[in-house]
Amino acid sequence: MIYRKNKKYDFDCVVVGAGVIGLSVARSLSKSGFRVTVLESNSNFGQETSSRNSGVIHAGIYYNQSSFKSIFCREGNKALYEYASNRKIKFKKCGKIIFAKNYKETDKLFKLQKNAKKNNVILKHLSLQELKLIEPDLTCHSALLSDSTGIIDVHDLMLNFIVDIEKNNGKVVYNCKVGIEDIINNTIRFTVNNTQSYSTKIFINSAGLNSHKLAKEISKKKNYFVPNIKYVKGNYIKLSGKSPFKRLIYPLPSKDGLGIHSTINLSNQTIFGPDEEVVEEINYNVNENIVSKFIKSISSFWPNIISRKVEIDYCGIRTKVDDNDFIIQTFNDHKIKGLVNLLGIESPGLTSSIPIGNYVTEYCKKYFK
Ligand SMILES: Cc1cc2nc3c(=O)[nH]c(=O)nc-3n(C[C@H](O)[C@H](O)[C@H](O)COP(=O)(O)OP(=O)(O)OC[C@H]3O[C@@H](n4cnc5c(N)ncnc54)[C@H](O)[C@@H]3O)c2cc1C
Repeated sequence: MIYRKNKKYDFDCVVVGAGVIGLSVARSLSKSGFRVTVLESNSNFGQETSSRNSGVIHAGIYYNQSSFKSIFCREGNKALYEYASNRKIKFKKCGKIIFAKNYKETDKLFKLQKNAKKNNVILKHLSLQELKLIEPDLTCHSALLSDSTGIIDVHDLMLNFIVDIEKNNGKVVYNCKVGIEDIINNTIRFTVNNTQSYSTKIFINSAGLNSHKLAKEISKKKNYFVPNIKYVKGNYIKLSGKSPFKRLIYPLPSKDGLGIHSTINLSNQTIFGPDEEVVEEINYNVNENIVSKFIKSISSFWPNIISRKVEIDYCGIRTKVDDNDFIIQTFNDHKIKGLVNLLGIESPGLTSSIPIGNYVTEYCKKYFK
């Protein structure tokens, strides 16, 4: 670990959390000449939400035009394909179909198409004949096709971010649980594993499911507003055997998610999910009794599921904030120059990871370069 004696600060720039967001921020900061140390409480990178998602590179269909989600998702979509191509990270621009189950849902489907257009994302309306040609197993009333949606190997993406960080003299240090000690003269003093105490000029809080807790700890020392976070668990089940679909198949979005959808991974295995379950605690157990709910939902667009074998798979936990956008708290929010809190970075966080990293870096350059 870098510990710089005889300097004003022990660290120049600490990034908490080696998930896809912390690593992307650290990569971008280190590229701009910041001396970055990523501190991760687990013994390896990406063990939490970043390895518990659908691995989808989203197009930017659903979001309000001026939101962070919309801007970062569109930029991130292009940036991820480019980065993955350059670095030979596995990805597949397989496309995605969003469907209306019945006539009643078509209004919603076309509203979504209009919203996507405002975001510069073109969704092609497919006639039932066209649909039968490309996805013969999908049963629905009408559908839209997004060409720019795909899937990516998230583990390899994070590994490449680490390669970049280390090439730029940054470090990723594991088994380091960060806690907040104090704020002295606008400098954050933090602890590692409840013992050592350090100071840092820049403190990037990208602790995923814990980032609001760290932000609240800091706000106890210097009062500012930290929004409430709701945990929404998303469970997945997997299909044994051959995939029925070549593309990602999505119903219309629901309140807290995109609806139980069908994705494929890079090994061509079909995975269904995630559902939405509000939880109080982080718990990655998947309850067997979700299967019947999944079968009911999936059989509405793929009746053959009833005769196929499925198994419980994994789950991930979303961090939801009330206004449903990413929250990036900087000086204007808390009057601490060296603090960035990344809150509510749920889907499409993976897709948005590169522009989020660049945004945080631009902020740090403004105040510290
Ligand atoms: C079910 C589900 C499906 C999703 N699907 C998609 C998708 O298809 N496409 C997409 O674009 N996005 C998707 N997302 C969103 C995406 O996965 C997240 O936005 C992204 O992974 C968040 O990354 P992160 O680095 O913020 O969090 P994490 O990956 O959780 O990383 C945070 C890290 O901080 C560490 N940490 C926490 N507290 C401390 C501490 N005190 N000290 C040190 N380290 C600490 C943790 O151990 C963890 O490694 C999905 C999310 C969920 C839940």
